[in-house]
Amino acid sequence: MKKTFVTEDQLREIEKQYPTPFHLYDEKGIRANARALKEAFSWNPGFREYFAVKAEPNPFILEIFKDEGFGCDCSSMTELMLSEAVGMSGDRIMFSSNDTPVQEFVKARDLGGYINIDDITQIPKIEKVLGQLPETMCCRFNPGGVFRMSNGIMDNPGEAKYGMTEQQLKEAFRILLRKGVKHFGIHAFLASNTVTDEYYPKLAGILFELAVRVKKETGAHISFINLSGGIGIPYRPEDKANDILAIGEGVRYAYESILTPEGMGDISIFTELGRYMTGPYGCLVTKAINEKHIYKEYIGVDACAVDLMRPAMYGAYHHITVAGKEDAPLDHTYDVSGSLCENNDKFAIDRSLPKIDPGDLLIIHDTGAHGYSMGYNYNGKLRSAEILLRTDGTAQLIRRAEKPQDYFATLDCFPEYANLSS
Ligand SMILES: *Cc1c(COP(=O)(O)O)cnc(C)c1O
Repeated sequence: MKKTFVTEDQLREIEKQYPTPFHLYDEKGIRANARALKEAFSWNPGFREYFAVKAEPNPFILEIFKDEGFGCDCSSMTELMLSEAVGMSGDRIMFSSNDTPVQEFVKARDLGGYINIDDITQIPKIEKVLGQLPETMCCRFNPGGVFRMSNGIMDNPGEAKYGMTEQQLKEAFRILLRKGVKHFGIHAFLASNTVTDEYYPKLAGILFELAVRVKKETGAHISFINLSGGIGIPYRPEDKANDILAIGEGVRYAYESILTPEGMGDISIFTELGRYMTGPYGCLVTKAINEKHIYKEYIGVDACAVDLMRPAMYGAYHHITVAGKEDAPLDHTYDVSGSLCENNDKFAIDRSLPKIDPGDLLIIHDTGAHGYSMGYNYNGKLRSAEILLRTDGTAQLIRRAEKPQDYFATLDCFPEYANLSS
């Protein structure tokens, strides 16, 4: 059974001040998990997690990670700006972007962050816009083909737009060396939402062996290897959570058997986890406001796909708990739907749930990553608030809900529209 980090009583208290729907985050859970990650990689003195900002781009969340010693993994101008705003710069920033407008490299350089180059054709563009290349640069690798693990096919790098071939990566290193770059990173992201302890160790093995070849052939000093994101979370009750300590040990084994014997034991391990850092520590709280009985039984809630796009976009499963009915029998079958004029706006289809009454609060689990951040404004819907449940139990508003003024703000070339408000 999947547990919630908040009770009905707590939610009823919060709701008095902040109406549903809202995303709620659990500081205690986020910090405990961050510490477990650090523990798992404590064998590597240079280890650092760069939280993937896109997963949950809220400065209050970033501040928690800053406090835990993490950095930010950014891939756009506004993500860089957000990192800067919370005081993360220099080696606390990893700029892992693709199809990048050149001005963003300037911003990343100005902040002193690491630049992770996605494609060899970007090198002359980066050099042109920056003048002088930074002393340390990273390149993103794509091995092509299919990435397999013992439980079957996991992902399809050969179909992915990211990274360089091995030949291009070596050529990029040679070019960068000639241009005065002194230290190098290697990065790859080969599979997403992996619920197996095997992914990182396997990826690490591939990248460590690549690092050995690259060093031998180009003479480049490799200072870090970035395992990027991809560690998943158990969205379904039957999924088994990853064991981060086992993952850390698996990477250590690969490190000590591949890198250490080659005299490359000074390499720092970096990660860019997003989902794993916040996913389970956030939920979308929404109220049942309508019920409908036609060919199926529907529960209409006050959130919709603009608050959580994953079910509509990928058919993703998000567990639902009805607050206060945790132990009630699951003797009803519902489609739980939002109000968009799109039939894929359903948080659950044919889901066994307890009897839901109007006014019940539904807790949609695991929305702490790629939840709020994928929000949009289709159908003129306004994005929800974000609330942080602090370690001391207080609820802090960390982003207000959108108002109609926000929706109309970009019409400011026509003041009569931009000033519309309810
Ligand atoms: C999305 C992304 C991440 C984070 O991925 P998760 O699956 O959330 O861990 C890390 N790095 C890059 C470059 C990404 O695009």
